[in-house]
Amino acid sequence: MTVCAATNNPGKLKELRRILEKAGHAVKSLRELGITLDPEETGATFAQNARIKAAAFCAASGLPTVADDSGLCVDALGGAPGVFSARYAGVHGDDEANNRKLLAEMQAVPAGQRAARFVSAVCFMLPDGRALTVEGVCPGSVAFAPAGENGFGYDPLFIPDRVGVGAGTVENAARRTYAELADAEKDAISHRGRAMEKLESELSEFLK
Ligand code: IMP
Repeated sequence: MTVCAATNNPGKLKELRRILEKAGHAVKSLRELGITLDPEETGATFAQNARIKAAAFCAASGLPTVADDSGLCVDALGGAPGVFSARYAGVHGDDEANNRKLLAEMQAVPAGQRAARFVSAVCFMLPDGRALTVEGVCPGSVAFAPAGENGFGYDPLFIPDRVGVGAGTVENAARRTYAELADAEKDAISHRGRAMEKLESELSEFLK
């Protein structure tokens, strides 16, 4: 199937593309489709925002559309930045400023109390308006300092609890951040990877 990967975030697009292509789909980016929309994310939940984006970009592209809304929920911060992850420090998509703010907010929080989880809601929408929304979660914790060069966003500050590709996962004993994982390692355990896996497993039933 040819699907529109509905995101203006280059880091997310890269991940959505590689996961969707691995599952056998052809992917069109917003850029390839000449779509420059930036729908307002007015939802109170990841699922609501994913649906808002899927609906807007599906209408614009006329293609089956996959949109992700995601973010980092930190226990010690009452679940923040949550749905405001992209604009935590004020300017939408300023990853460096967001990471600086997260580190500052977590400065006094000791090891053992730095639990967090990444959440991804993925909405798949068809041009006839039918939609399937799934969610993936990756539990972990917030690092004391950034580490790693891969990925985007909060990747250098997020330490997933477990890692592993293929047959099961193991404790992340080396405490590697998302940004220290290879692409396939991140996709195997990440919030987005898990949401997309769920989507793929429910898609054929949904399309019947
Ligand atoms: P939105 O879903 O476009 O509203 O933005 C989600 C924000 O959450 C991004 O701008 C990133 O800051 C963060 N985020 C979502 N997924 C990831 C990820 O896989 N790694 C790092 N940061 C992420």
